[in-house]
Amino acid sequence: MSVQNYFNKSLDIACDLIRIDSVNPGLKKGAAGEKEIAKFIFHFLRKEGITVHLQEIAPERFNVIATVKGLQPGPRILLNGHLDTVNVSGMQDPFIPNLHKGKLFGRGSQDMKGGIAIAISALLALQNQRNNLTGEIILAAVADEEELSLGTSYFLKHWPKNKPFDFAIVLEPTDLQVSTAHKGFAWLEIKTFGKAAHGSRPKDGIDAIRMMGEILRELDICDQNLQQEILHPQLGCGSLHASLISGGSQWSSYPDFCQLKYERRTVPPETKFTVESEIQLILDKCRRKNSLLKAEARVIYARNPFEIDPDLKMVHKFYQTAHRHFPKEVDWGWVSFWTDAALLSMAGIPSIVFGPRGSGLHSLEEYVVASDLSSCAEIIFNFLMED
Ligand SMILES: [Zn+2]
Repeated sequence: MSVQNYFNKSLDIACDLIRIDSVNPGLKKGAAGEKEIAKFIFHFLRKEGITVHLQEIAPERFNVIATVKGLQPGPRILLNGHLDTVNVSGMQDPFIPNLHKGKLFGRGSQDMKGGIAIAISALLALQNQRNNLTGEIILAAVADEEELSLGTSYFLKHWPKNKPFDFAIVLEPTDLQVSTAHKGFAWLEIKTFGKAAHGSRPKDGIDAIRMMGEILRELDICDQNLQQEILHPQLGCGSLHASLISGGSQWSSYPDFCQLKYERRTVPPETKFTVESEIQLILDKCRRKNSLLKAEARVIYARNPFEIDPDLKMVHKFYQTAHRHFPKEVDWGWVSFWTDAALLSMAGIPSIVFGPRGSGLHSLEEYVVASDLSSCAEIIFNFLMED
């Protein structure tokens, strides 16, 4: 079979993957999770003679790890993609792949069963050409990227330290841009503490919601300041928004408690620590203005932003391979959303994000450009086969 036939299989594989519900159970209680899709890929690759195993990262949740080893020594390269998808509520037929005018519709078509299909068909072609392959290619098709990235975290934790990766490609949809950066984020919680009292007795009560108002005012100023400062040439500036607020118990009482949850999007070089000290400074300022203000804040969850130097040899080589294939479409780029590339890069693996064109990530109508699947598989294959 010519290698092109393997690339062409990517469309059928993507359709098979869309048919399997793999909504992240952390996002929707009782959702299917990654077990069925992981088992499907495991059996599919094993039938093709590829070394593959399942990795249980949590009860009933799986990564699939597959390896194609060339006959010659060379670099060890990781292809990373996630098996889970976001919710499907409101979608019509989310698990029925529908090819229409060159677009493949269905939940996960672009984010990122398309990317997994690309990796699988590239792997089939590499297996077929093992005699000419130098080095080792590992596919980590992982669980839980859409929530806490347990899959990639587990994979990195359990990967043997004496087998370091030289490079990784995360196959998230980038519209064919060789993406070298994305933002990070932090979820924070602020609590203010007042004193409950009857609404007719202002001297007895301390209003926790109004205290939060003072903090919100400072967060607003903080966000305006963030917007003024371009920290990163592609990603621009950090930002924040209030996400959820609650407090108070009844109409005619002073509220003794208020809670605000907000999100801070970060750009390099900002980290969790930047955000932590930023909110502490804000609280200090509020306390100086109002001695009655009692508040505490903490970072509940944070993921760092990602960036890589485009001049690194592997990155440059990948760009050239992709650009040769798509001289008009391929360019350097970045993505706004967070990806597992940040975890890989924190683990010391030089990584890029690259994947097909499409639209509708996380929305009701999601599609991937069908012809990009085989093209991207060919790009990945050519990159990995070239010395
Ligand atoms: Zn994704």
